[in-house]
Amino acid sequence: MEKKLGILGGGQLGRMMITPCIDLGVEVYFLDPNPECSVSEFTAHLTVGDFNDYETVLNFGRTVDVITVEIEHVNVEALEKLEKEGKAVNPSSQVLRTIQDKGLQKEFYQNQNIPSPDFRLIKHKASITDFPIVQKMRKGGYDGQGVQILKSATDFDKAFDAPSVLEDLVDLRMEIGVMVARNAQGEVQAFPPVSMDFDPELNLVKYVVCPAQISEELNKKCIQMANSIAHKFELVGIMAVELFVTKSGEVLVNECAPRVHNSGHLTIEGTSISQFEMHIRSVMGFPLPPVSVTKPSVMLNLLGEMGYEGEAELWSETDVLALPEVYLHWYGKKTTRPGRKMAHVTVLRNTVEEAKSIADEIDIDLKVIA
Ligand code: ADP
Repeated sequence: MEKKLGILGGGQLGRMMITPCIDLGVEVYFLDPNPECSVSEFTAHLTVGDFNDYETVLNFGRTVDVITVEIEHVNVEALEKLEKEGKAVNPSSQVLRTIQDKGLQKEFYQNQNIPSPDFRLIKHKASITDFPIVQKMRKGGYDGQGVQILKSATDFDKAFDAPSVLEDLVDLRMEIGVMVARNAQGEVQAFPPVSMDFDPELNLVKYVVCPAQISEELNKKCIQMANSIAHKFELVGIMAVELFVTKSGEVLVNECAPRVHNSGHLTIEGTSISQFEMHIRSVMGFPLPPVSVTKPSVMLNLLGEMGYEGEAELWSETDVLALPEVYLHWYGKKTTRPGRKMAHVTVLRNTVEEAKSIADEIDIDLKVIA
């Protein structure tokens, strides 16, 4: 008999989980507040409701066998109750509770001897005295919101007056992401490390590059750290581990997200198994195969174009989508607004340099407008 999987959230991440559910024979159900969310056009199993509401999550969870998430900001009390009732909640309420609060997350790294930038916790902005410093709101931040660098005392005014993590400003050489999955049997598999290039204005990932162009030794170190983090969290599911490589060659954990992640989208075409299939396998207790690079790849996020708001439309001047080995993933969001993640494109080539130059063309050519 097929086991029923319930997913909290029906956005683009949930949408991309549907394909492996079809292939693996997993009956999948979604909970999302938006009746027109990204999964809505592909499933008859969408419950419209708030995944932050205790009763809603509890009632939804009771109708399925396994519960997972596509977003970490969900009602953990309801998940805890479901665990007590014998449901498999993967990742666990405990992992989600720790991740939801950047303060608890930092304390976890400290207690588990996982290297991460030095920090202290504050309640109010009046406690900020040293600059430069990175301020991260403990709760409620997302996609670079709720995180800011305070360069000097003149930035004090823009500091968030909220419970925050104050973190040392790290001299970054590069940012590396490792997707790692673990199942309830304790099997762990990491994906090849990727590098992430940021758009400095939007503070969002611009390109993700696989494999990361780093030494064999650094590659190994990143994978080892991700594996060890998955064990220490006793993770069941997939986790995005975001790492800082400092100019002096240290590897530090920036943060982790216990779900499929933007930095893993290129695994759909670029590696031997996608993050979405690996996640479904890990939460359902299936075996986890090792992962290899199929071909070098670069992923580009398509964000809502500046100055456009309304019904979303893809616009291309030279039809870059006619190029070989260029894969579009449209998220099915009805409306666009500036900077909103609307789709992504993955480019496969024989080298990452070639893939990057095509991604540059696409970046200029392909727009989401209204
Ligand atoms: P979010 O949870 O919004 O993704 P992050 O904690 O990942 O926020 O921070 C966003 C970006 O800010 C990072 O990817 C990095 O470029 C920069 N950043 C965060 N913390 C530090 C730090 N301690 N030192 C230097 N840069 C940082």
